[in-house]
Amino acid sequence: MLKLKKDVVVIGGGPAGLAAAVKVFDNGVEDVMILERDFELGGILPQCIHNGFGLHHFKEELTGPEYAQRFIDDVEDRDIEVKLDTMVLDVSPDRKVYAMNREDGFLEIEAGAVILAMGCRERTAGAIGIPGTRPAGVLTAGTAQRYTNIEGLLPGKEVVILGSGDIGLIMARRMRLEGADVKAVCEILPYTGGLTRNVVQCLQDYDIPLLLNHTVTRIEGNERLEAVEISEVDENLKPIPGTEERIEADTLLLSVGLIPENELSKKADVVLDDRTGGAIVNEGRETNVEGIFACGNVLHVHDLVDWVTQEAEIAGDWAAKYVKGDMRRSDSKIKINAGKNVSYVIPQNIELEDKDRKRIPLYMRVTTPLTACEIKLSADGEELYSFNEPFAKPGEMLSVPLAQKTLNDLGKIEEITVDIIEKEGE
Ligand SMILES: Cc1cc2nc3c(=O)[nH]c(=O)nc-3n(C[C@H](O)[C@H](O)[C@H](O)COP(=O)(O)OP(=O)(O)OC[C@H]3O[C@@H](n4cnc5c(N)ncnc54)[C@H](O)[C@@H]3O)c2cc1C
Repeated sequence: MLKLKKDVVVIGGGPAGLAAAVKVFDNGVEDVMILERDFELGGILPQCIHNGFGLHHFKEELTGPEYAQRFIDDVEDRDIEVKLDTMVLDVSPDRKVYAMNREDGFLEIEAGAVILAMGCRERTAGAIGIPGTRPAGVLTAGTAQRYTNIEGLLPGKEVVILGSGDIGLIMARRMRLEGADVKAVCEILPYTGGLTRNVVQCLQDYDIPLLLNHTVTRIEGNERLEAVEISEVDENLKPIPGTEERIEADTLLLSVGLIPENELSKKADVVLDDRTGGAIVNEGRETNVEGIFACGNVLHVHDLVDWVTQEAEIAGDWAAKYVKGDMRRSDSKIKINAGKNVSYVIPQNIELEDKDRKRIPLYMRVTTPLTACEIKLSADGEELYSFNEPFAKPGEMLSVPLAQKTLNDLGKIEEITVDIIEKEGE
């Protein structure tokens, strides 16, 4: 077994891992290594060949591969050590990382700090259990994206898509552009799960029907999918008898949710948040296990890669401080609570001292779509301040700044709660 020592080990070479590693390096910690199980860097982005990436971070519209390449170039310019085709198998709470590849065999890397950046995986047909047969032609939207954009294979010609998250919407347009007949996008909820811009640019611009309050209730076909049955659902998301409709299709694409890949995190005793499926972190993106940080989709599912980068840079900054011995914890920890209409807030705790920072960004999602709302922050029950938003959707992450000056003025408090209230009559 090859034994190594590194100041920082980054697990995952997607946009999160790349940006975190660059930040660690730029903070003076040059002994950083990226471990990636795939044969190339970039995570999921090489298969996302559409544009729309980087509008916030670079103020430019890039494709996924272009966005990834900027960070790959940064990694190469700094000569950051990368091990590709390397699967991380285990991480211990005392930051020993165990991995395997063809060149080195089994590796044990003792790390000063670990950054978890393993991304997420898609929920599959097995996870949602649609009644009927199990023919070929039922696949996740991300797998179809890989076949189409990387392998040059068209997964089918008559397509129904279940789920209106961003990947489903983008694949509806992609399949149409490749000449397939996209018959419908069915969404069980009364609203779409994706960004508004994707609903407009991917469905409305191509006249692809979006059926809200609908789900697939049966799969038909022996060797290959022949048809799906769809039904309308009631307010409890139960199919309404008598509303069944049969649609002939050879392909059903599933875009029914992403699951943060936290198997390794659990092995390192990292505590997960039930609502995000990712770690519970402080504002430096450090988990409950000292020196183990998390960022990107493994922490919570992001809608824009630009937010992934921002978060990874925070994790990289603090991981570098940690290994340099510059990370100071406050005497007390402030818990951040997700209040009314808020499904979660990241970070969940504030506990680090930083005399230079002006604000701490709080990232959150609403539980349900709201129009004209007010985001209210309160400390130990006392209202601090509020912001107005014209609308909020579960599919679009909100970022709200918590001013450091406010925290300083408050002195010792135990918790901050974020509520998002719909304004009446607007
Ligand atoms: C199918 C799909 C399509 C998407 N399309 C878009 C889109 O069009 N636009 C958009 O803004 N966002 C899109 N996203 C969201 C996208 O995932 C994020 O914007 C961004 O890629 C997340 O970055 P990440 O680095 O956290 O994760 P990823 O990009 O998923 O990278 C994680 C990396 O970790 C590696 N890894 C995981 N486990 C291990 C291990 N044990 N050992 C070694 N390496 C490991 C993986 O191989 C991967 O390279 C998509 C997501 C998916 C799943």
